Amino acid sequence: MSLVALLDDAGLTGRGGARFPTSIKLKSALETGADLIVNACDGEIGVHKDALVVAEHLDALQHGADLLARRVQWAAHRGSATERRLRNAGLRVLPVPSRYVASEESALVSLLHGGRARPIMRQAPISTGGKDAQGRRLRPTLVLNAETVWRVSQIERHGAAWFRGYGTAEEPGPRLVTMGGNVDRPGVYDSEAGVPMRDLLEAAGAVDVRGVGISGMSGGWLRGRDAWAATWSDAGLAPYGIPTGTGAVHVLGRSACPVDHLAQIATFAAGESAGQCGPCMFGVPAVASQLERLADGVLPAEEMLDLHHRLGMLPGRGACRFPDGVSRFVASGLRTFSAEVDAHLAGECVLMQERAGATR
Ligand code: SF4
Repeated sequence: MSLVALLDDAGLTGRGGARFPTSIKLKSALETGADLIVNACDGEIGVHKDALVVAEHLDALQHGADLLARRVQWAAHRGSATERRLRNAGLRVLPVPSRYVASEESALVSLLHGGRARPIMRQAPISTGGKDAQGRRLRPTLVLNAETVWRVSQIERHGAAWFRGYGTAEEPGPRLVTMGGNVDRPGVYDSEAGVPMRDLLEAAGAVDVRGVGISGMSGGWLRGRDAWAATWSDAGLAPYGIPTGTGAVHVLGRSACPVDHLAQIATFAAGESAGQCGPCMFGVPAVASQLERLADGVLPAEEMLDLHHRLGMLPGRGACRFPDGVSRFVASGLRTFSAEVDAHLAGECVLMQERAGATR
């Protein structure tokens, strides 16, 4: 059986967040003789699983990469322990700046072709090559996240049935989950779709849970009571409009202000974009500024409508999906923590008043 057919049988989807079927990507890459970039950057906030795969499963990871392509580059953040591990193993490393969008698929391809680590406009899928919007010729390139490549190696070794022994029929296979935030035992956990989120929270030692952020800046939020009751799968989180995505779970404790947290992340986002598209140059910084004023309790209630309007204007207008993710993440937070938002608008947020008192 061909590797494409085997991965199709297994139902492997990308573990980097998008969940695109790996067999389809590989089929197209094999037709064009594409190079492979193994993305070990852990580019999403709060995700550490690819670092773990490199640290603990490098032989299997290399085997997976060898199955997929003849020419392989290993993308890792410059100066990271992952980069050192890959170099020590004698692998060809593509050093990536430690910026949020620098490890986006097309940004890695741009970097590989001598350009800047910025997402690029293109007319065809990266795996088919062609030209970018500036007319630069791009070699066909398959970009897969490190956990995905490790899973390819496992499927080749243990078979599709073994892989389907984990997860659900619609979302098969083992998955890594990174637990962080207000937990006693942060770290990367083996998991699978269909397990109760309670199991993940208890394994990481979460007790005090105001809310849970899923999949970093490309995901959204659950209230604590919903997180304890939810199922860990795309289907289980669909009622909340959140994908499991990159598999990051961030626990926000009761002593944390979710509005302040949203403002901090949005401000971080405003500084991380490549600043080459309208929504990132103007929209994301404006959203961050409004959230900061909301967190400080000085945003007039009338401006909330404007904030929601701005969020609605972000998706689908950039060269990459970064502004789409920021919009979904912030909108989900405002919806999930509507009681805390209302308290901020009314100047009644206890946490906000405590902070103001501490700085006086
Ligand atoms: S949408 Fe934003 S992050 Fe994406 S390429 Fe444009 S400026 Fe960069």
